[in-house]
Amino acid sequence: MNQREGHSLPPRDRILPNPSGLNAEFYRIAAETGTLNVQRCNDCGVYRHPPRFSCAHCGSGAWSWSPTSMRGVVWSWTITHRAIDPAFAEQLPYAVVVVELEEGVRVVGNLAGLAILELRIGLEVNVSLDLRSDNIALIDFIPR
Ligand SMILES: [Zn+2]
Repeated sequence: MNQREGHSLPPRDRILPNPSGLNAEFYRIAAETGTLNVQRCNDCGVYRHPPRFSCAHCGSGAWSWSPTSMRGVVWSWTITHRAIDPAFAEQLPYAVVVVELEEGVRVVGNLAGLAILELRIGLEVNVSLDLRSDNIALIDFIPR
């Protein structure tokens, strides 16, 4: 079923990310804890994503992984009409969505449980983590 009618989750046989460095930590912590964590500056408290070594707000190199609320709003999206990974062929067209979490960071993930024609800027969504291995949990967004 494709997202035109309101689908669902990425195919089980899809290519998985093979992240390194801080990005690998980001995915591993999500898989281990079942909660999406992002970096938070130890000095000024600002959240940041994608992962990086210093704070763009205050320049501090001190930070910690911090659990998010798993709640946010749709900030943008793109519709994919050609599958690079053949595993997605039956889901075309599908949406890749950018959500702004309550912590103020933007995260990219998959739309789940909503037809692409129903996407709206500001739509309230919850993050759902789709555990694919000990080191990878994919990010899905489900309307609230
Ligand atoms: Zn800072």
